[in-house]
Amino acid sequence: MYEKLLKNITYSRIANYIAAKVSYWCSNLTNDVYLNAKPISASIEPANYCNLSCPHCPTGRKLIEKKDKRLTISDFQGYIDALLPELMYLNLYFQGEPFLNKDLPEMIKYASDRGVFTCVSTNGNALTEDVVKRLSESGIGRLIICLDGASQDSYQQYRVGGDFDRVVNGISLAVKYNLPLEVQCLLLSTTEKEIDEIKELCKDLGVKRLVFKKAQFYDEYLVPESPKNLRYKRDASGALVPKGKLKNKCWRLFSTIVIDVDGNVPACCFDKSAKYSFGNLNNSSLRDVWLGEKARKFRQTILRKRTSVDICNNCI
Ligand code: SF4
Repeated sequence: MYEKLLKNITYSRIANYIAAKVSYWCSNLTNDVYLNAKPISASIEPANYCNLSCPHCPTGRKLIEKKDKRLTISDFQGYIDALLPELMYLNLYFQGEPFLNKDLPEMIKYASDRGVFTCVSTNGNALTEDVVKRLSESGIGRLIICLDGASQDSYQQYRVGGDFDRVVNGISLAVKYNLPLEVQCLLLSTTEKEIDEIKELCKDLGVKRLVFKKAQFYDEYLVPESPKNLRYKRDASGALVPKGKLKNKCWRLFSTIVIDVDGNVPACCFDKSAKYSFGNLNNSSLRDVWLGEKARKFRQTILRKRTSVDICNNCI
């Protein structure tokens, strides 16, 4: 799956990667932000709304006030051009369902033709044969389809409003068109009882890569019973707290830029409402946003006291 990534390694990409790593190490050692590199990877949001209402997703639950919007192809191209030639890896998702933007295959092709490895994660409810065919001609590097259940009954408890058969059909189409497919299943109280059935279903569909993923929770809904299926532990009061120690460092802040449909640059993919936005690429340059004062201050806070930032306390 990652051969495409290796095939497109260039001098400028390696030099930028090394510069970002050195900046990260120096910043961690000195507790002061030192960054002299462009982003290695990016997450760009094709659409900021969704066709489902998943209970742990602020977009699905409409907790963030925003107008439904799709990214235009010309804005997308502008962001990619600014990130090249250093950009190596592109996630075409953030909030919302990416396939609600009909230009998605064209965006993937634009980035892929320029040597950028592309990845899309989808709930699979909008995958038709026409879309999958266009995807197969786009040069996509990785397609993640989320299948959180072995039947409509269990699936819809998390994927509220979703159609299990449509997702299974989307997976079959991805297999038929030989796409670089990864099926992902969130470990929930429902799915942890169905692991064998989900494995069997994926085997029957011809899926080569199936990943069970520990979920992020904001409340107790669908929390798995088995501690091994959780990235949290219970404290004395029974509340969920992160399993590991939260260290005052964050590689993502030195390597990955997030760009939403409006051109805002949230601090990271956990900054879902762009509360800690570094600026906007529609009225400032990439350099001014990525290396600007807001970004520097935010990185500085994480280096000195990560737990003072709300979003960082649920990031494990
Ligand atoms: S939530 Fe905080 S620690 Fe996690 S990726 Fe974002 S900035 Fe880094």
